[in-house]
Amino acid sequence: MLKTPHHIDTDLCRAGLCTDEKTGAISTPIYQTATYRHLGPGQSTGFDYSRTSNPTRAVLEREIAHLEGGAAGFAFSTGMAAIAAVIGLFKPGDTIVACDDLYGGTYRFFETFARPHGIKIVYVDMSDLKETQAELLLEEVAAVFIETPTNPIMKITDIAEVSAMAKRSGTLVIVDNTFMTPLLQRPIELGADIVIHSGTKFLGGHNDTLCGLVVAATKPTADKIAFIQNASGAVLSPMDSWLILRGIKTLSVRMQRSQDNAQEIAAWLTSHPLVETVFYPGLETHPGFALNKKQAKGPGALISFKLKSTAHALSVLRHVKIISFAESLGGVETLITHPARQTHTDIPQETRDCLGISDNLLRLSVGIEHIDDLIADLSHSLEYAL
Ligand SMILES: *Cc1c(COP(=O)(O)O)cnc(C)c1O
Repeated sequence: MLKTPHHIDTDLCRAGLCTDEKTGAISTPIYQTATYRHLGPGQSTGFDYSRTSNPTRAVLEREIAHLEGGAAGFAFSTGMAAIAAVIGLFKPGDTIVACDDLYGGTYRFFETFARPHGIKIVYVDMSDLKETQAELLLEEVAAVFIETPTNPIMKITDIAEVSAMAKRSGTLVIVDNTFMTPLLQRPIELGADIVIHSGTKFLGGHNDTLCGLVVAATKPTADKIAFIQNASGAVLSPMDSWLILRGIKTLSVRMQRSQDNAQEIAAWLTSHPLVETVFYPGLETHPGFALNKKQAKGPGALISFKLKSTAHALSVLRHVKIISFAESLGGVETLITHPARQTHTDIPQETRDCLGISDNLLRLSVGIEHIDDLIADLSHSLEYAL
């Protein structure tokens, strides 16, 4: 007998494969309904109102839980809504220790929303285990919030080590796994309690749908998230749930191609005379190269790099033709961004300087175009700056 498939590529491709025996439909139906008829008093089909649960969204939630190896999954309207729901687990007086180099929107949420609501946020360089441990020993910490690789400097955090440290004091471990996806990195296997995704990025994969996902490792945590999701209400629509399911089906081939392209581009950038530094965990010279290799199946498709000057960086943004100058990441199209002036503008200048998010830094989200066209585009846009 054929064993049930164990390769994640196969699971990805089968995401949302419909098992409706009546019609034989391959694709999950889009249940575009807000409410559900009751068979009688005290009777329910299991669905009462779509904020609480919707059959299309439920398929996506089950798939992401399976892919991340957690107890349950939850789909939200955006990645930020997912993060807000998770932060809803905490109360005034709680402390969260977060990576110092974070997605700009998460930083903004922490500073302008969580902090005024009494949650204390402490930032540490989590690629430095000693600094992280010292912070965890300093006071009672409710949660650690990890991004690895970080955005945009690509620092790598040892998820297993930080989880082990956190577990000793009952601290919840939250990992934003947007950059890696469960194809490359599975934080729950490394000790995380909660995994978050901006499904807008690699999981959706086509720069056309916003989505946030949360996976809870255990049932008690899942019950709390389920309560918050229903109570606060920023759920993903049935149509968008279907689009994300469709995106997940091709994640494996998309990520492989994007990552192969990124590896070549990173090497090419390293040897370019106008490029000062390249931040890509797939380069052996990257300080987190070995650690990333240990905990993830690949370095992903995001590259940050510093040009000789800000003028050079702006010139690249003006002259790219195949690559689009646009925010976001993880889609089939290659995008280039200017973190200091786009995704990370809400971080104060001094903090940005301290982290290395300078005005000459650019970030590439490498897509699936032909590698020669991408390199030709970068090469041509850099020539203008010469
Ligand atoms: C984009 C992003 C988010 C926010 O997701 P949205 O879907 O844009 O709300 C959170 N974390 C990371 C790492 C991201 O890249």
